[in-house]
Amino acid sequence: MQLRYNYRLYPDAAQREALAKAFGCARVVFNDGLRVRQEAHEAGLPYPTDAELSKRVTVAKLTPERAWLGEVSSVVLQQALADLNTAYRAFFASLSGMRKGRKVAAPRFRSRKDSRQAVRFTANARFKILDNGRLRLPKIGDLEVRWSRELPAAPTSVTVVRDAAGRHFASFVVQTADQPLPELDSEVGIDLGLTHFAVMSDGTKVSAPKFLRRAARKLRRLQQGLSRKQRGSNNRKKAVRKVARPHAKVADTRRDWQHKLSTQIIRDNQAVFVEDLCVAGLARTRLAKSVHDAGWSQFAAMLEYKAARRGRTFARVDRFFPSTRMCSDCGRINDKMALNVRTWGCPCGSLHDRDVNAAKNIRAAGRADLNDRGAQVRPAPVPAPRGEAVTRRELAPSGAQQTGISALQGREDVKRSPTTVDFYAGDRHLGSAPVHHGVARLKKTVSGELTAPVVARYRGDKLFNDSDSDPVDAR
Ligand SMILES: [Zn+2]
Repeated sequence: MQLRYNYRLYPDAAQREALAKAFGCARVVFNDGLRVRQEAHEAGLPYPTDAELSKRVTVAKLTPERAWLGEVSSVVLQQALADLNTAYRAFFASLSGMRKGRKVAAPRFRSRKDSRQAVRFTANARFKILDNGRLRLPKIGDLEVRWSRELPAAPTSVTVVRDAAGRHFASFVVQTADQPLPELDSEVGIDLGLTHFAVMSDGTKVSAPKFLRRAARKLRRLQQGLSRKQRGSNNRKKAVRKVARPHAKVADTRRDWQHKLSTQIIRDNQAVFVEDLCVAGLARTRLAKSVHDAGWSQFAAMLEYKAARRGRTFARVDRFFPSTRMCSDCGRINDKMALNVRTWGCPCGSLHDRDVNAAKNIRAAGRADLNDRGAQVRPAPVPAPRGEAVTRRELAPSGAQQTGISALQGREDVKRSPTTVDFYAGDRHLGSAPVHHGVARLKKTVSGELTAPVVARYRGDKLFNDSDSDPVDAR
């Protein structure tokens, strides 16, 4: 697996200037390439290939307007074009639907004012870590590095980054071997909480540390001060720097803290399920969630690569069901509750902590997803439902074809004469429908994924999926 190792750099004045020049050149090459492609697109001409753009850079170096591109390593310029290609590939893949998740926008022009500036050196550039611990970069110099930890292997590339606070970092890409941990039985679902950073299905609640919350409050105040300054003014520039420093510090502290937490979760669990934030973003009802978003996707990414490296299972779960008000014991979907309701009771007799219940539902959905995909999951102990006695009966697969759902099942209450039928796709609760004269008809699911009604019908005391019949007939 490829991992990144980051170290702080301390360039001297001349090296800072040389780096600034490299950032500028990479930006110009990126923007020139983007312009060429945009103009070709507008003129209805074919998409200029990577090789064509590369040739243009070589030619541009010979012109007086772009001669200064020769002052930086040509690898830096080639890598700027590679970045442009990556951005275009992501955009095209997103357009065609090949790429999942949030829509990716077309590449945008880079600006001198972007808070993050970066250049990349590959092995071709012959960057070198010297015996005296300095990092030698072509046409930049030998930079001082703070080696906060050891590089596990020789890096294949290094990206030099300048952040908004004006600090420089070297980010090395290193190929590392996987280090699987001994297998465990525990599986965990994690809910992004309102009052907690993470709530786990085993009942563990993790709050963000106090110092992070305090720092966040202070940042908000600085940010407000910034927004009152006039655009382009010197006072604003000062305020920008003033905000960037503590921001960077908080981001560092939060990252360290998340590293510790994610390492611990991966160490203690064989499988980890979290909600898919992209899906959650579409149907977001909990306001304060957006506050956590940035931190959460970073955290989920940490869990993902650590799981891959340690031989664990990690999966994002689509939040198509109302995980907060669905009972994790009986599957019933209860009424909406106010945000201040922290515990609630289900008619089945279960008492739930709001967030722990949501985490349990995420774990169950994660398991079901894995089983659907045929992944290797050992059967996990499922807690027996309390209260009502519940049976499940398989329904004919005809409904599945109609709705694109792999397996539909009906669930009924066998104690009393059945009054409602719950519909499931796998373990996923799609909705309930009342029974009239032995027929239950589900017209809509919670997430609206049905294109046609699904009908369940009693024949004797057995429940059958009857979706092939004309729904109007069934009435
Ligand atoms: Zn219940």
